[in-house]
This record gives sequence, structure tokens and C-alpha cells, in this order.
Amino acid sequence: MEDRVEALLAEMTLAEKVGQTHMSANLDPTADHELIRSGGVGSSVLASGATAGNERDHGVRVSAVNATQRVAVGQSRLGIPLMFGRDVIHGHQTVFPIPLGLAAAWDEDLVFRTARLAAAEASAQGVSWTFAPMLDISEEPRWGRVAESLGEAPVLAGRLGAAMVRGFQGDPDAGTVDAGALVGAGSGGIGTVAACAKHYVGYGLVGGGRDYETVQVGENTLRNVHLRPFLAAVRAGCATVMAAFTDVDGVPMHAHRRLLREVLKDEWGFDGVVVADWDGVGQLVRQGVASDLRDAAAQAITAGVDIDMVSGAFAAHLEELVEVGDVPLALVDDAARRVLRLKVRRGLFENPYAPATSPEPGADPLLSARSEPRTEPRPESRRLAREAAVASFVLLTNNGILPLAANPGRVLLTGPFAREGEALLGTWALDGRGGDVASPASAISARLQGNAIVDDGRFSDRTLHLVRQADITLALVGEHPSRSGEANSVADLGLPAGQLDVLRAMAALCRPLVVVVFTGRPLDLGEVLDLADAVLIAWHPGVEAGPALIETLFGDRSPAGRLPMTFPRSVGHLPSSTLARPTGRPIEAASDPVAGRYLDTLVVPRLPFGFGLTYTSFSYGPLQLSASEMPLNGGSIEVSVEVTNVGERTGREVVQLYLHDVVADVTRPLLELADWVILELAAGAVGTATFTLTPAQLSYYDRSMTLRIDPGEAVVTVGRDAANGSSARITVTG
Ligand code: BGC
Repeated sequence: MEDRVEALLAEMTLAEKVGQTHMSANLDPTADHELIRSGGVGSSVLASGATAGNERDHGVRVSAVNATQRVAVGQSRLGIPLMFGRDVIHGHQTVFPIPLGLAAAWDEDLVFRTARLAAAEASAQGVSWTFAPMLDISEEPRWGRVAESLGEAPVLAGRLGAAMVRGFQGDPDAGTVDAGALVGAGSGGIGTVAACAKHYVGYGLVGGGRDYETVQVGENTLRNVHLRPFLAAVRAGCATVMAAFTDVDGVPMHAHRRLLREVLKDEWGFDGVVVADWDGVGQLVRQGVASDLRDAAAQAITAGVDIDMVSGAFAAHLEELVEVGDVPLALVDDAARRVLRLKVRRGLFENPYAPATSPEPGADPLLSARSEPRTEPRPESRRLAREAAVASFVLLTNNGILPLAANPGRVLLTGPFAREGEALLGTWALDGRGGDVASPASAISARLQGNAIVDDGRFSDRTLHLVRQADITLALVGEHPSRSGEANSVADLGLPAGQLDVLRAMAALCRPLVVVVFTGRPLDLGEVLDLADAVLIAWHPGVEAGPALIETLFGDRSPAGRLPMTFPRSVGHLPSSTLARPTGRPIEAASDPVAGRYLDTLVVPRLPFGFGLTYTSFSYGPLQLSASEMPLNGGSIEVSVEVTNVGERTGREVVQLYLHDVVADVTRPLLELADWVILELAAGAVGTATFTLTPAQLSYYDRSMTLRIDPGEAVVTVGRDAANGSSARITVTG
């Protein structure tokens, strides 16, 4: 493979090499014919604009993609195929729960299967590259992009992210994905897409949760927290990495040589492609570190950016920069080599076209684009979407009202999401269609027929009359997806305006009230938790939202998700997460008058990380350790706990292991998630969750940025969430 890449590189002119580093938006076979034919472009992002996740576009036009590719392959001097990138974030045509919801399932296999199906659907349309997984460590719920993330815990985001990478790219151990079987007759093809770990790195720390804000963080915290999921993705073979829009301590990521070239490429040995974010190279000018686009291009290629997404800086200036000696040719060679390697590895030279339709040469691409049939989610895809949605639901409170009785009387379905379809797809569902979504209204009507009262969704005084007529009210509240995702930050974590007032009025009518919250972020739900009989977090669940929800509320299935982010008490409590490290005056020291507490409120989260109820309950036995000492070299300890299902239904428990290194070279998290085990237990059954603890799980980067493990004490905690567990001390021996 390397020989093939080198042979191609040797044949290329400087202009053709620069072409491989240039990505255009929505390349058009006619308008961009000359650019493509001359080898002046290497890839195309299929997106409606700079913040494409907030819109739904016309979908991928397969015939236009193929016609564009035909120009590159058939008419350019070297016939190098184009890559077509698209944000396939949580499903393609079959939309799954938003990533934060998928993370709530804590299930690598589920994430793998959703990514594999998305890749099959997308690649059948000629998409060869997705810009996912998003691996920004998210402890800032005001930031709308937490919806796209896999939560706050590096180990959870890292393992789920790696599973997503394997799903998108094809698991080398699982053989080639049969795309034909997944997306329908006539497709075939390789069925996978290149993945992209984004946004490298520290984007989750944007100041005040305001999107694109500057970031203050030191390299040690980056290494011990924010870089970890990226390393996991790179180790899983992730083909590409996207630079973040932000700066880190004054250095914009698109110009960050230390983190891109020295850490990612040199230290980790990443031989894939670093792609800029949308206009990220151009934005160096607005960030005030580059005087103009030429300067921006020089800084970005030097830092390690290989592909310039849409700014045009590389295309306009790299050739001249090399010719006058301001940029060494070796840097352009390295970038072009990486892009060619990606294309060879992805099999693009053998399979450049979308398999679904192969337009005849000369066919009018626009004409056939208009008549292209859209693939509906197939029944088996919907089954997976429903499974994923149920697995993402997190039950926060329940006084016994759930699951609802089979014949509960008259049930009112109300709230702004009762009749929704499209809004339940969530942010970044470019190829989802509202018409494909099974709404809550249709699901409850199908189940209860005449006993279902479906409100008009306006949440008005009329609603209160309906509450009085009903035996139970299901209020579907929360955030529209346009309130989460890119560029959508909020300063208040309460429910959107007016919703709490209506819930208060409903609760005052003293009828059983179940509140379902659709959301892309943790919300401040304090009062809602008190006034409702049950509260379920449903995130934005995707195409099977309605049936998944109604089946769960009626107990055909049990909610089993666990919060992948801490739910804070209020905005004033931020940051509030499991990433907290010890201070010199710990807040536990109640007797200490200057112990860093708030004077006016409790400091503990409203709901801890890892929290979630289900329709049964579990009791935990004592923590068992196979030894209390663990030799640093090659040692391990079995940590186990017996868990009993003490309720009356089968249930799924996520048993969580947390670690704290007592004495280290730098401050270490008080409670860092290290591992988890999922137990499925029938009523009355007893299971054992066993963790094999190894010294590597206590490794961290020290003051000199060296990875190390210290001999000494560590606290091991096992429990149902970050606030409920039993602890024991172990000693790592040298
Ligand atoms: C986003 C990326 C996305 C890219 C391409 C940017 O605005 O930050 O996450 O992949 O657009 O659509």
C-alpha cells in the first residue's frame, strides 16, 4: 500500500499535491468541472453550510456524487478519486438517539451496531467519510454541542467512541460488512466509511458554555482527561481527526503544532489525516493569529493540518508558499501522502462510486437527482433504532406509577412534543425525515384507541381541562433540537420558557403526572422532580421515538439508561462533574469554615453521573477484593460485588467502578470512572459484577507529561452511580 502511495506521489505535480489538501463544499460536476479535472481538489463536504447540523437539507444526491466522481476518476490526469464527507452523526436515513442518548446506554455493542448501519446507509449513497465520533469531554451543559458528545467520562467516551469507529470503518475482526443486507437490494459495495474523531481538542471547555469561546486548559489536564478518548479512537484505527475551532491557552487548534504534530502525529504515531473544521484555517485570521489567508495556510500546514475544509487557504497559497521557500515541500508531501493513504486504505480506487446508482456517462445529474428515490428505514433498521431509543432512556424518579397499568383508564398525552415527529430526531440528523418518525401521538393512539386523549401540543388552558378529564397525564416537555447542537448555547438550564408553569398547574390538579423530558443536555430539573410522579429523560430518540417511549412507559420494556453527564443543581453550580480533583481544603471538611462551599446552596449535583432507575431495584453486597496489594509490574486484583434483583421484574443494572489515586505527582480525580459491568438479572436473581483491576488503570501523565503509575494507595469504589458505592483501599506495590 505504501508503495502505491509513494508511486502516485512521485508522479504528482505540486499543484496536484496541494489539490489533495483542499476540500470544497458540495462539489458540482458542472460548475466545478475544471477544478476537479485539473486535480485541484481532493474531497467534498456534503453540507448545507457552516452549521449544517441545525438544518435538514435535500439529502445526498447520489447521481450528482457519482457524476462528480466520474470527472475526478475519468478525466483528471491521475484519476485520483474524491472523498465525499458528510456528518453522519447518529444514523443516516435511520436516525438513532443523539450521541449523548446513545452514551446513556453504556453499551459498546449497541453503539457499534448503530454506526455500522449508518455507514452502510451512507456509503450506499457515495458517502465515504463521516465526521464522527465527536469525542469532546462534556461537563458544561450550557454548551449545546454536548448533545453530540459521549458524555463527561474519558473512559466511557473513549470506549464508546472506539466502538463507533469500528462500526463506521468496519471491524477488522468481524469481516466486511454486507451493505446489501443492511440497506436493501441493489446496494452492495464496501458498506463502510472513514471515521473522524473530533474536535481535537479541549472544545468541551469553551468558556461559559458559549460555542466557539476561547479555552483555558493546561497540557496535563488535556492529557489526563480530554486527549484520552482521542487516543482510544486512534488506537481503534480511526482514519481521520478534526481540529477544533477553539484556541487552547491562546493558541488556536488549527495552528497548534504542539498538539497536532508533536502529540497526535509524532508521539501517538497517527498516520491518518488531520482535517480542518469548516473554515477553521480561515478563522485563524479572525482569531487574530494570522495576518491573512496566506499566513493562515502556512501556520496550519506547519501545525499539522492536512486538509483545509472550505476556507480555500491551502488551494490559494500553498503552492506559492512552497515555491518561495516559506513552507517546506516535505510538509505538503506529508499532507498529500496522508490523503492518498486514506483513499487507498478505504478502497476508493477500487470502489469510487456509490453502489446504489451508477449513472451513465453524460446523464444529467440534476435531472436524475430530482427523481432519486429515498430509502426508507427498513423494518430491521427500525428495530435497532427502537432498541437504541429504549436503551437511552433514563428514569429519574418514579413513585410506582410506572410502568403504567395495561388498562390505565383515560390517558392524556400532552406537551409540545406529543404530536412531534421531526423534532424527535435531534440535532445533526441531516438525512432524517420527519415523516419517517413514529410519533408519540400515533403510538399511544394505536395502543389505547379511545382511551388516548391527544392534546394539540400547545400546552394551554385547554390542556388543564383535559388533565381533569384524564386518569393519568403524560406531559412531553423539554428542548427542541434547535436549542441544542452547534452554536446553540443557553445561559439557563431550566425547561424552556413556560413549560414549568404548566407543569405546576397540572400538578396542582392532583392527578397522576408523568413527565417525559426530551433534551440534548442535562437540565436543571429540581422542581420537576418534586412535582411529578415519575420523570423520564428521553433525549432526542430518533425515528422510533413514539413506540420506544410508549412501550417503555407501559412496561413492555424497561428503561435502563444511566446519565453520561452529571445533572447539576443550577448553572451557578458549574462545573459539577466527576472530573473534580481534590483541593487543599476539601468540601467534605464540614468543620472548616472556609472549605469552598457555597453559602447559599448545597454543592452536590442534583443527579450524579451514572444515575438511573429502572422498574426493579437492586441491592449490593459487600465489596470483595482478591487481594489488597497489586504489584506494579504485571499485577492485578479482582474486584467484585454481588448484586441482587430485589424487585419483581427482570432488570438491567450498570455496575460502575471508580478509582482515586491517593498520592500522585499531580492532583487526580476524586472519583474517576474506570470500568463498568452490565448485569441482566431476573427478579430475585443474584449476579456478580467482577472487574479485573490492573495498574494501567491508575496510570496518568505527571508534571513532566510522562505517563506513569505510582506505587502507593488507591481508593476503589464500586456502586450504582458516582454518589452511591462502597469503597476499599488497595496498595500498588513497586
Ligand atoms: C462542525 C463540525 C462538522 C463540520 C462539517 C462544523 O461547523 O463544527 O462538527 O463536522 O461543520 O459539517
